[in-house]
Amino acid sequence: VLANLQLRHTLEDQALRDPLTGAINRRQLERELKVAMHRLERGGGAFALIMLDLDHFKRINDVHGHETGDAVLTGLAALVRQRLRATDVLARVGGEEFMIVLRNVERGVAEQLAEKLRAAVEGTWLAGGTLRCTASIGLAHVDAAGMALGIETHWRRADQALYAAKGSGRNRVCVWSEATPPLALTPAHGAPAVPEPEADGAAEPVGVSGARTPMPTPPFAPVSLAAVRANGAEGAA
Ligand code: GH3
Ligand code: MG
Ligand code: MG
Repeated sequence: VLANLQLRHTLEDQALRDPLTGAINRRQLERELKVAMHRLERGGGAFALIMLDLDHFKRINDVHGHETGDAVLTGLAALVRQRLRATDVLARVGGEEFMIVLRNVERGVAEQLAEKLRAAVEGTWLAGGTLRCTASIGLAHVDAAGMALGIETHWRRADQALYAAKGSGRNRVCVWSEATPPLALTPAHGAPAVPEPEADGAAEPVGVSGARTPMPTPPFAPVSLAAVRANGAEGAA
């Protein structure tokens, strides 16, 4: 009976995980996020959503083959997991796209970890030491102020920050922030306006890594990010 139970637990665990990387799957992630939101609502700690997407991963497959690509994914998951606490969550939400949930974390600490992850990916030889790759990272921090918003909104914010990281050159961390230049600062006809630096240097999305790039560069449409911020359209869809 005990062996049966153990087998059942193993099978259940397998159903929650991606077999290649051992990361939990999207469905299990959704459960984890619900729990995190409930905790927050009951006065629990803030948490952070980190979206991590490998840069030009298709190229790695094309050049080195799909098996090498798989090895890169496995190695990536391992190196990320090494840097997480036991209470954090690593989920595979797409082919080469991962979400990390940092529990009970302050914004600054989450930013530091995101940057640490970015640097670790950049600096690690993967697939048996044959190649290195980079990742773009978007971060959204969820604290009491964001409690009334659904988890979908926070997920979308992390996605938007990731999109900004991709658009502003990849291999960087961008952070979603309330501190937002209004839409009018980005003229539709011309170059993106440079956002006013906030008192603490924060503007949305903030490039944490590399040459702090406060806004994505065209054609990655800073307008769309600004529009979302300005008119609250993120609640739609
Ligand atoms: P970007 O920097 O914009 O993210 O470019 P990208 O090439 O990483 O992104 P794109 O979405 O164009 O390509 C993702 C690739 O990931 C395409 C697909 O072949 C590959 N992929 C998805 N899942 C797997 C997998 O399980 N194993 C391997 N080896 N490749 C995968
Ligand atoms: Mg990619
Ligand atoms: Mg992707």
